[in-house]
Amino acid sequence: MVVRRLAGQQVACGWCGKQVMVKARGPVPKWCSAACRQRAWEASRAAAAGTLAVRVVDRQVLVVPGDGAGWVEQLGLLARQLGQGPGVVADYDLDAVTDAVELVADALTQRQLWRGRFEPWE
Ligand SMILES: [Zn+2]
Repeated sequence: MVVRRLAGQQVACGWCGKQVMVKARGPVPKWCSAACRQRAWEASRAAAAGTLAVRVVDRQVLVVPGDGAGWVEQLGLLARQLGQGPGVVADYDLDAVTDAVELVADALTQRQLWRGRFEPWE
């Protein structure tokens, strides 16, 4: 499955917590600036010397499928989660999920009509 990062995501700087933009490719940034990288490095040295505790921040980056097989897998997961009840997908989210799935169904209908002679509509 091909995956790519969802555009426009941010992660928290591992030192000051300020939001840092994540690029589409390459390593996920750990720090917002050289100054924070330096301070974190100094703190990790102090921690190694036993004089300061360092908090490790877990940073997650969302990825989106980059091909049909990936979407088949993700939509299968959605179907499964819907079947697991309101503890997983809340009742108050059902209308928004329905709208989104109808949008996808409409786009699929269009693609089927233009199969083999497609021109992008956006
Ligand atoms: Zn920072």
